[in-house]
This record gives sequence, C-alpha cells and structure tokens, in this order.
Amino acid sequence: MKVSLLPVYDQSNGWHEVLGPPPEANVLRGDINCDYLIIGAGYSGLAATRRLAELEPSASIVLIEGDRIGNNAAGRSSGFAIDHAHNLRAKSFADAKRQAIEAVQMNRAGLDWLGNTIMRERIDCQWVKEGKYHAAATTRGERMLGKFAESLDAIEEDYTLLDGAECQAIFGSRYYTKALHAPHSYLVQPAAMVRGLAQTMPTNVVVYEKSMVRAVDYGPPHIVRTDSGSVTAPVMVLATNGFTEGFGFLQKHLIPLITWGSMTRELTAAESERIGGAPSYGIIAAHPAGTSVRRVTSPNDRILVRNIFSFSKKSDFVKRKAWAAKTHRKSFVGRWPELADVPFEHSWGGALSLSRNGAPVFGELRPNVYGTVVHNGVGIARGTISGKLLAEMIVGEDSEMLRQMQAKDRPNKNLPFQDLGVRINARARRLIAGREE
Ligand SMILES: Cc1cc2nc3c(=O)[nH]c(=O)nc-3n(C[C@H](O)[C@H](O)[C@H](O)COP(=O)(O)OP(=O)(O)OC[C@H]3O[C@@H](n4cnc5c(N)ncnc54)[C@H](O)[C@@H]3O)c2cc1C
Repeated sequence: MKVSLLPVYDQSNGWHEVLGPPPEANVLRGDINCDYLIIGAGYSGLAATRRLAELEPSASIVLIEGDRIGNNAAGRSSGFAIDHAHNLRAKSFADAKRQAIEAVQMNRAGLDWLGNTIMRERIDCQWVKEGKYHAAATTRGERMLGKFAESLDAIEEDYTLLDGAECQAIFGSRYYTKALHAPHSYLVQPAAMVRGLAQTMPTNVVVYEKSMVRAVDYGPPHIVRTDSGSVTAPVMVLATNGFTEGFGFLQKHLIPLITWGSMTRELTAAESERIGGAPSYGIIAAHPAGTSVRRVTSPNDRILVRNIFSFSKKSDFVKRKAWAAKTHRKSFVGRWPELADVPFEHSWGGALSLSRNGAPVFGELRPNVYGTVVHNGVGIARGTISGKLLAEMIVGEDSEMLRQMQAKDRPNKNLPFQDLGVRINARARRLIAGREE
C-alpha cells in the first residue's frame, strides 16, 4: 500500500539551524534486510531502537527517518523534559490520584533512562535539571496556579511559589505576577539531543535519514519502500506520530495538531543587561493555551516563545507560519518591551498527536507491527518511556511498568466533525487565555 500521509518539513527550526549543518545524511540505497525495522526517529523511535539494540545485541536493527533527525517534531519541541503535565487537571488528581502518581513515575523513568544515556554517551545538548516555572500574568492564571499547587499537594510533589518581584528577578520581565517552580524537570536543546542520540546508537543499529517510507507491504516479513531502496524485516515498529494514519492504522482515532515556536537572534550584551534576569530558564503559562518561554544560553543569549495550537491533518507547517510568528511577536514584546527591536531569526511549526481521551497508542497493531504514538506535549518523557517499554515488550521482557502501560486505555474514536470541534475549542481557549498568551 501507498503511505498516504507524509510529513513535509521546511528549514526553519531554530534549534536545528543554530547547530549548523549536520554531517551528510546516510540515505537508504538498495534493498536490505534486518531483524527489526523502526520507522520514525523522534523520541519514541530513538528510544525503541536503542532499547532493542541493548536487549538484542546480535540482532540487526534499522532506524529509518524521512527527514533530518533534529528537524523533525522531536527537534522542534521547546525542550521541556517534564515529569508532570503542564496543567494537572484537578479531576485526574482528586478522582484518580493513583493514575496521576503512576504517570509521574513513568515520565521520570523515561527521563532517568534518557539522562543516563545522555551522560554515558556524552551528548552535548545542555541537558540540565533546572525545573520548570509555571507562571501567571492574570488573576485567572493565578487561580489556576493555586489549583495546580493543590493537585501537587495531593500527590506530595514539592514546589516553590514566587511573587511578582521574584518573577521579575529571574525572568527579566515585569509581565508575570506569580509563579510556581516545580524542580524535577530538565531543560534541553532538543535538536542537539536527538541528533546526539542517533549518532551514538549501539553498533548493531544502522540509521538512515532523508529516506521517506512511501509504500509498505505488510507481511511478515514486511517490506517498506523509499525512493531509492527497500527494507525487509520480520518485525516493524511505527514511531511515526500522527503520520501513523498514513500507514493504514488508527484512522479517526488521532487528533493531529501543530504548535509553533519562534526564536530571537542572539541578544547583544547590552540587550541582555537591559532585561537582566537569569541566563537560562523555562516558563510554562499557567493557562494551557498560554505561551511557553525558554531563555537559552547556547549559543549565547536567545529567547524562544511557543504558543498556538492548530488542527492540521496535512502537517502544514509552512502555510500558517507567518500568522503564528505574528502572535509570537505580540507575546514576546508584551513580556520584553525593552527588546521590541530584536527580531526573530527562526519561526517554525511541528506536529503533535493527541487522542480524544488522552490515551496513548502502545502495542501490536497487526501481526509483528507495533506502534508507539500519542505523546501529547510531553513527548520527551512519554515518547521515551513508551519506546523503551515497547522494545521490552517485543523481546518478551516483563515488568510492573510495562504491565501498567499495557493496562492503559487506548484512544477512542473521534467524534463526527472532530476537526471543527478542535478548531472551535482552540479558538475559545485562546480567548480565555487572554494575556497568558
Ligand atoms: C513547537 C513544539 C513544542 C513542543 N514542546 C515540547 C516540550 O517542550 N516538551 C515535550 O516533551 N514535548 C514537546 N512537544 C511535543 C513533542 O515534540 C512530540 O510529542 C514528540 O515529538 C512526539 O515524539 P514522537 O517520537 O512520537 O514523534 P516525532 O518526534 O514526530 O517523530 C516521528 C518521526 O516519524 C517520521 N516519519 C513519519 N512518517 C514517516 C515516513 N513515512 N517515513 C519516514 N519517517 C517518517 C517523522 O519525520 C518524525 O521524525 C512540542 C512539539 C512542538 C511541535
């Protein structure tokens, strides 16, 4: 069958561009065979590949990616490697405390494994445990922070509250009136991380980039075809985010979204001094439709803003970029009016996949075809642990965490006119978010 939905990336991802060009891509040419084939080199595909290679060191493993690793959604994220969701819904904490604790444990297991890999392989990606700030700029936002604090209390998670003056001292912005610092998350340069993970794979892995899978014959053995070659494998893993629909699975079960980021040029020393504040931090808005901010030190001082979710079946990252960048500018200048003249050097969109009930895709989709999809805005932690556990399941390992993952709900079917519903919901949430955007 022809793969009916393919990602199309442009060259605008700031994280990827500031690293400079990667080494020439190893493009698949010719017909090859392997024991395990993984399609998609985002967080989940990279984790599944590495874990399979660790568990089966004599197996031949192929990871195949349509674009450059780092220019995909994983490299386009804002680099918050987070242990608990942006905004914990009171319902899930009050009514289902156990699931909430389980989810945090699972995310932390993903982050621990990832962090250990980064340290062991000496991947230079500014992986640092700085925690994350949830910050409010409105009274509604402050109320949401209060609820968030209550839900953290309910699961005995620690945090610190900051007033407006403390926010200003750290963020170099008078915009925020209150913040909550949750200390256990990490910040990372996401494109550097995924490039580094791919470059340090065990020796029984071959990674192909710029090798879009355009057709598949399901077996087993399964045969996938690119423009210049094919791979035949008895076992295949789809780590293809919302594009999994194009492989004939989960139609009408995924909610594909795009969210957008913009990064300034490097601030001059005078500009950095003008705003003051800490050299590096990550802010998540108190309202889920608000703006996330990163201040990054490498290379030099830059500020990144991310906001807006738009529904897109076609991964249309390019068409609405100018529109997203305009909103980013407003959010940026609102927070740092002193930097109104500082332009964005890069603006980009990237794909997320959600499901209506928030449940992930995990496990066997048809004989010897496995999937790990739907990692929401928590892809670094959830994608990693899901890919790792999937590899363990494939080779027959057992663990308490794997059983927890297997016991989770699966995505339920979209409602009729789901796309329209999502669009209206996104618009309404933006209006409610107000200054939090
Ligand atoms: C702007 C933005 C900010 C975000 N911020 C954060 C954040 O701060 N923290 C966080 O945890 N998450 C964040 N996310 C979410 C996160 O990026 C995703 O959840 C994550 O990338 C999903 O991982 P994945 O491995 O499932 O998919 P992806 O990273 O999308 O990887 C799937 C891969 O499959 C490849 N592929 C698909 N089809 C084919 C094909 N036919 N042939 C070959 N290859 C194919 C794609 O090219 C892609 O590389 C953000 C997302 C965006 C867009």
